[in-house]
Amino acid sequence: MTVLSGPSGVGKSTVVAHLRQAHPEVWLSVSATTRKPRPGERHGVQYFFVENEEFDKLIANGELLEWAEFAGNRYGTPRRAVLDRLEAGEPVLLEIDLQGARLVRESMPEAQLVFLAPPSWDELVRRLTGRGTEPPEVIERRLAAAKVELAAESEFDTTLVNTSVEDVSAELLALMRVV
Ligand code: 5GP
Repeated sequence: MTVLSGPSGVGKSTVVAHLRQAHPEVWLSVSATTRKPRPGERHGVQYFFVENEEFDKLIANGELLEWAEFAGNRYGTPRRAVLDRLEAGEPVLLEIDLQGARLVRESMPEAQLVFLAPPSWDELVRRLTGRGTEPPEVIERRLAAAKVELAAESEFDTTLVNTSVEDVSAELLALMRVV
C-alpha cells in the first residue's frame, strides 16, 4: 500500500487524477468527509460526504483506518475497503494529509509513505498565495503552516518533487511497481 501525502497546495490530487486516468487498475481509497461537496463532486466518487453525526459513528465503530481534521472539516479512510483490496492483492493508493500519513505509519508500518514536495519554496508560495485575493495575514498563516509541513519530509520513505504531473505520476507508478 502506498500513501501519497505532502503540504497543502502541492498538487497531490492533480497527480492522483493523472495517474488513475492512465492506470485505472490502481485502486484509490475514497475517503469520508464532513466537508460539503464542491461543484462537480459526487458522493462515492471524490468522497463519501457525510454529516458530523455519521462521521462520529464511523470513528466510534472503528471503521476508519485513520482520520484527521483539516481546515475545519474531518476526513477519514474507510478501513474495510482498503483491507479487502490489499487481501485481493491489488495496488492500493491513499491520498491523505500529513497527520493521516503519520497515523497510517503507526497502524500499518509496512505501508510505503511518499512525500510530494514542491519544486521550490517560491513555487509553493506562488501556489498558496494564488490570485492574491486573500488578506496578507491569511497568506502569512498559510505560509507559516507550509513551512512546518515541509519539515515533515524526513518522516517519509521517499520524496517525489512535483516538477511535472506526468513525471511525478510515472515515478509514483514505478514506486508502486505498477509499471
Ligand atoms: P480537500 O478538501 O481539498 O479535498 O482535501 C483537503 C485535504 O484533506 C487534502 O490534503 C487531502 O489530501 C486530505 N484528505 C483527503 N482525504 C483524507 C483522508 O481520508 N484522511 C486524511 N487524513 N486526509 C485526507
